[in-house]
Formats: sequence, structure tokens, C-alpha cells
Amino acid sequence: MKIKLFNVRGEEAVLAEQWAKVNQVELSLDQGPLTPDTVKEVQGFDGIANAQIEPLDDSIYPILKEMGIKQIAQRSAGVDMYNLELAKENGIIISNVPSYSPESIAEFTVTIALNLIRKVELIRSNVKEHNFTWDLPIRGRVLGDMTVAIIGTGRIGLATAKIFKGFGCKVVGYDIYQSPAAKEVLEYKDSVLEAIQVADVVSLHMPPTSDNSHYFNAELFKQFKKGAILLNMARGALVDTADLLAALDQGLLDGAGIDTYEFEGPYVPKNFQGKDITDELFLDLIHHPKVIYTPHAAYYTDEAVKNLVEGALNATVDVIKTGTTAMRVN
Ligand code: NAD
Repeated sequence: MKIKLFNVRGEEAVLAEQWAKVNQVELSLDQGPLTPDTVKEVQGFDGIANAQIEPLDDSIYPILKEMGIKQIAQRSAGVDMYNLELAKENGIIISNVPSYSPESIAEFTVTIALNLIRKVELIRSNVKEHNFTWDLPIRGRVLGDMTVAIIGTGRIGLATAKIFKGFGCKVVGYDIYQSPAAKEVLEYKDSVLEAIQVADVVSLHMPPTSDNSHYFNAELFKQFKKGAILLNMARGALVDTADLLAALDQGLLDGAGIDTYEFEGPYVPKNFQGKDITDELFLDLIHHPKVIYTPHAAYYTDEAVKNLVEGALNATVDVIKTGTTAMRVN
């Protein structure tokens, strides 16, 4: 069996080669993307494991069909870069890795919450200037005394709720679907508004949809408990960034942990050291004293990277051997 991988980063190559040895599968690792130019390299392979970032060109699906390729296994949870209908019409199964490590994102979320609540960034910058005083700006609060609202109580939301609960927090939540597992950990509210009005920390874990773009905007920030903290480790589109920065400046919110920025596409995950960033809003976000911005890094752990590589390769083998996979999304 021969599998072609695209967009492979060095750390993934090591894991893929280990997997190949154990599973006795031949791999070809390509650092570049799957494009109308590179698709010809798939000839002679049995399957594809990909980490597509930009939308996949529509012309590629019929070419793969011609080659007898039956699947593309994506090494992420999101599959919005594929035309799922067109793939299906061409007999191509798209699969993802839906749950590669919810704990990674959950633990990161709580890490950032604690950093904001205990003013760690400010303490560190004071210390670097040899200022060792205790002053009001660095005075923190006790997380365990706080109420946390989890918006979206699926895999990651539930894992996050459990950790906050472990600190002693009261945890409330909102979801369009109330899960029995989450009910054991948190108290469901009937609307986002009811959840955020009682919360000191609001943590977003729902997917972006056509009707929740910029759901967290100036109007909603006015309804937050004064001095609350917003955490967005889900998707940038959920939050109106300009409104968020204004709410922080007006003192409506006390801090924000932003791992997903609505216009992150051109910048993440790339090294912009010494290069111009033309997005003024992004610069304002990065440098805002009440914001901890991280570059979509909440997922990024040893465990998650391994699960993503192996999950996609296993799904590829499933389709080649059985004609389908439990991870198929179309
Ligand atoms: P999931 O499908 O397990 O859970 C999502 C939950 O959101 C579901 O329970 C669903 O019912 C709920 N939901 C959907 N629409 C809603 C709405 N309008 N209002 C309230 N709840 C709604 O997904 P997950 O694996 O827990 O992922 C959650 C989010 O985290 C996704 O947006 C995903 O893209 C993001 N994510 C971020 C990172 C990162 O590194 N920052 C990594 C992985 C996933």
C-alpha cells in the first residue's frame, strides 16, 4: 500500500515514518500543498493524507477520480476547505480527525484564563524592568470563586468545564443541544445571554455557523458582568474584534484570551519576524495590554500532533481496505 502525504511539516514526518514502519505502508511525504500542478504526483498511489489550509481547487476531484483515488484524509477536525458535494460526486470520501485531543485545547484555555486573572503578563514585564512592587494592577482574583460560562458544551467545552469545575468554579453553559454528560458538570442556561450575565469568565467552544458570525459584539459585551474575561479558543468569526477591543478600553471587560482571530488566515502559522503586518486590527489585538493573543496554538501538543497524523493515516487505510471509514464527513 502506498500513501501520498501533502503539506507535511518536519515534526509530522517523523511521526508518519514511525507509523509507516509499524503498519508496513509505503509513504511519500511532500512539504508542499495539493494543487492542480502537484496532483499528478498522486499517480501510482492508493490514498492521500492531507493538511489542506486554503480551499482545494475544484478541478482536483475529477483528476483524482480518473486516477482511481477513493479518498482524502484531512489531518484536522475542520473540513471547510473541501467541496464535500463535489468530492462525493467524484466518489471521493473526505475524512477528518474529529477528536484528536480536546484536553489539549481545554488545558490551554484554563492556562490563559489563569494568566489573565493573575496578571502574569504584567508581573513578568514589571519584573523585567526590575519593578518588584505589589500594586493594584497586578492584584489577582481567585479562579475557584468565579462563575464560568461555557458556550458550546461539546467535546472541548465539556473538557474545559471539567477543569474549571476542578478549581472549584461554578460552571454554567449554553448549547443548542444539551448533553447528558455536560449536565453532570454544569448548569445549563436557556440562552447565551442568561449564561454570560452571571459569568466572570466566558469561554467559547462552539463552531462558526452562518448565523453566529460576530455574535459576540458591542451589544452583547454591554450585557457581560462588568470586569468579565472572554476566552475564544474556538473560531475567530464568533467575535467582533474591533468591538472587543473597544469593550476592553471602556472597562466593560477586564481581559481577553484570543487564540483564534477572525482574519488570521494570512498570518497563522507563519513567521512574520522582520516582515510588515498590514492588518491594523490584528496589530491592535496583539499589542493590547488586556489581551493575550496566541496563534491558534491551543491544540498544539505532542499528543494532538501524533493523533492527527495517525488518525488521518488510519482513515486512509480504512478506505483503501474497506471502502469507507468511521471518520468520513461526506
Ligand atoms: P463539538 O462538535 O464537539 O462541540 C461543539 C458544540 O457546539 C456542540 O455541542 C454543538 O451543539 C454546539 N453548538 C453548535 N452551534 C451552536 C450555537 N449556535 N450555540 C451554542 N452551541 C452551539 O466541537 P469541538 O471539538 O468541541 O470544537 C469546538 C470548537 O473548537 C470548534 O469551533 C473548533 O473549530 C474549535 N477548535 C479550536 C482549536 C484550537 O486550536 N484553538 C482546535 C480544535 C478545535
